[in-house]
Amino acid sequence: MKKLLTFFILIIVNNLFAQIPTLSGTVKVSINEGTIDCDLTLYDIPELKEYVILINSGFNLNVIRTDENEFNYPYSKKYDKDISEESFLYSISNEKGKLLPNKLRFIYSGKFPVKKDTTFLQGSKDWNGNIAFNGKSLRMAGATNWYPILYDIEMDKRYNEIKYNINIVCEDCKTLYVNGNPPLYSTNSNFKSDYPTDLLLFIGNYDFKEYNKIYYLNPDLTDDEIKNFSELVQKFKTYYSKNVKIPYEADYNFIQTTPTFKKNGGFLFVSYPTIANVGSGKYGLKSVVTYDYTKPLVAHELAHYYFGAGYRQFNSEIGNVIQESFSEYISAQAVKEILGQEIYDNKIANITSRFKKESDKIYKPISNIENYSDFGNYYAYAYNYFPTILLAIEKEVGQTKMFEWVNNLLITTANFTDFQFLKSTLEKTIGKKKADILTTKYLTSEKAIENALEKIKTLPNNGYK
Ligand SMILES: [Zn+2]
Repeated sequence: MKKLLTFFILIIVNNLFAQIPTLSGTVKVSINEGTIDCDLTLYDIPELKEYVILINSGFNLNVIRTDENEFNYPYSKKYDKDISEESFLYSISNEKGKLLPNKLRFIYSGKFPVKKDTTFLQGSKDWNGNIAFNGKSLRMAGATNWYPILYDIEMDKRYNEIKYNINIVCEDCKTLYVNGNPPLYSTNSNFKSDYPTDLLLFIGNYDFKEYNKIYYLNPDLTDDEIKNFSELVQKFKTYYSKNVKIPYEADYNFIQTTPTFKKNGGFLFVSYPTIANVGSGKYGLKSVVTYDYTKPLVAHELAHYYFGAGYRQFNSEIGNVIQESFSEYISAQAVKEILGQEIYDNKIANITSRFKKESDKIYKPISNIENYSDFGNYYAYAYNYFPTILLAIEKEVGQTKMFEWVNNLLITTANFTDFQFLKSTLEKTIGKKKADILTTKYLTSEKAIENALEKIKTLPNNGYK
């Protein structure tokens, strides 16, 4: 009985605190025309006081409506770069003020540039929030807000991970892939998931291969390369499970696709449970899996399972930095063990060398970050500055304690994963006295980066003298 009671309490708690909306309806796409027509209903919407609904600004909204009352809601539309660069923010109100019904139907359409000819790629951009038609396929992750994404302003929570039951129709496609389901050779199919998922869509004219339940979409890899790469991925996952002490329960699929820009480079991003490589030629997935110096990028994306793409999402002003820097830190450790010291040293040199060139640049300590502009350069902050701080803290406390801190970051409940949370988990790991000393030196000091570089300068080959 007690067990049964606990079970019911768990269900109630789940419903109260983690109501996950479900998306249903139809998405029609033309790969050749670059058109997307959505008729989507979001239901089981949680009760939120302060909210907006994000929809990519490339779409023209026809209506937000309720079918029960055959009524189209009046809505307001705003733009706020700090909430989303890619989207307009919608909300519904009546004479009593803002309201959020439990179920809403959205009908909207958009036409996007199809960048199949390289002459149109010059000066063009691509990123994970881009609705990318490259002439062969459409790639759009949840980061694009192509489906209505509820955002809880008070709790700084995006409801991009949702349950779904949707139809995808694309007459000029050969293959359909919706994150959370295996790919399918079809032009019209229903996809369903009861597991909350970021709705990455990758549909178009491409083939796929499968190895040990891992799908490779549009692969530029031979069967042997797929086998070797799958085994490497397994090694990273085993390393993470053992050291983070939380089972790595994800089978990632891999996408290879070409970008909508023309520059020397490519990028990887994760939309759990998919890792996408966006690059062509020597920046294709084939290069990433062939050369030892690019394999750490895969280790980093896999580390995101714990930080931001699967196990836990972090919020507040420093949430993204926690996700990126700790992914960078634990992936560096995995690289050292699995790929060897030389590749590790090279990775650390890449992280720290920026400060040799920019010795006069001032970074605000992590305790003083209040908004996005406080980072100065967000990219440098997330991938160079804070990982360097973590490497210095490792020099003070050792790798075992660092992984204990990682575990505490992942299992300690908090509404906001802000600076107080970061500090309290460090205290929980190494005790208040030592945490106070390290906080003063590395987390609240204007000279944190100098202190960190001084501490780690004995690391071999780290690019800082
Ligand atoms: Zn990352």
